[in-house]
Amino acid sequence: MSEQSASTKTVGVCTHCGAFHAVCKRPDRSVYAIGSPQGCHCSETEFRLLEE
Ligand SMILES: [Zn+2]
Repeated sequence: MSEQSASTKTVGVCTHCGAFHAVCKRPDRSVYAIGSPQGCHCSETEFRLLEE
């Protein structure tokens, strides 16, 4: 298993409504939703990671 320095695909939970999203975690620890650059449909943009 080789660790790339690029973004890591994982699962995040919206901090507002609890919806699950496929997210990418960047090396700088910022998280964004895949396919939803503007964030969750509830307009929240922060996600808590299921896996650290
Ligand atoms: Zn949400």
